[in-house]
Amino acid sequence: TEELLRNSDKLAIIGQLAASIAHEIRNPLTSLKGFLQFFYSNGDELSRNYYELMLSEVERINLIVSEFLLLAKPQSSNFKETEINELFNHLLALVDSQAIMENVELSLEIDEEIPKIYGDSNQLKQVFLNYIKNAIEACSTGGQIDISVSTKLDMVEIKIKDNGSGIKEDHLNKIGTPFFTTKEKGTGLGLMISERIISNHKGTVRFESKEGLGTTVTIHIPYQKKA
Ligand code: ADP
Ligand code: MG
Repeated sequence: TEELLRNSDKLAIIGQLAASIAHEIRNPLTSLKGFLQFFYSNGDELSRNYYELMLSEVERINLIVSEFLLLAKPQSSNFKETEINELFNHLLALVDSQAIMENVELSLEIDEEIPKIYGDSNQLKQVFLNYIKNAIEACSTGGQIDISVSTKLDMVEIKIKDNGSGIKEDHLNKIGTPFFTTKEKGTGLGLMISERIISNHKGTVRFESKEGLGTTVTIHIPYQKKA
C-alpha cells in the first residue's frame, strides 16, 4: 500500500505539472508547425524529406502533450449521473470508422436497465476509447472485438475482449506505467491515464492476456455511489 500511495502522489504531481506546462508547450509548437509547413511547401525534394520528418516529430510532441493535458484535468471536474448505454452508443459511433478501416469487427452487447453511475462522461468516454483503440491496434485484419456491459453486484462491468496479439507475460506488469509502449508511434500514457480516471470513479481495471490469443480488459465501476 505504501508503494501505491507513493504512486498516487507521483501522479498528482505529474498532473499539476502537466497542467501548467502543456499549454506553454502547445503555443510555440503551433508556430513551429506553421513555419515547417511553409518550408515544406517551398523546399526541394531533399529538404522536403527532412521537413516531413520534423513535422511528424512535432506531431508526436503534440500527441504527448494532449495526453498529458488529459491527465491534468481537475479531479471530479464534471461528475454527474451518467447513462452508460448512451455513452457506449455514442462511443461506438466514434470508433466504428476506425474499426472498418482496420478491418476489425466490433460487437457491443449492453444489458437493458444498467443503473446510472456517478461520473464524468467525457473522461469515461476517453477511457473506453483508449481501451478500444488499444484493442483495435492489437488486432490484425480480421480481428474481432467484443464489448459487453452488464452489472455485477453493485458494479457496472465492462468487458473489452479482443483476439489480437495479446501481451507478453513479462510485459503484463509494465503496462500502465508511464511511457511503456510496444508501438512505434505509441505514447505509453493511455493506460496510465485511464487507470487514474477509473480510480477517481472508485472503479478497478483488470487485464487478462495470452500472447498470440488476445486480451480481455475488465472494468468495474460502482453505481449509485457518489465518488
Ligand atoms: P500506447 O497505446 O500508446 O502504446 P497504452 O498505455 O495505451 O500506450 O498501452 C501500453 C501498451 O500496453 C501498448 O503499447 C501495448 O503493448 C499494451 N497493450 C495495451 N492494450 C493492449 C491490447 N488490447 N492488446 C495487446 N497489447 C495491449
Ligand atoms: Mg493506447
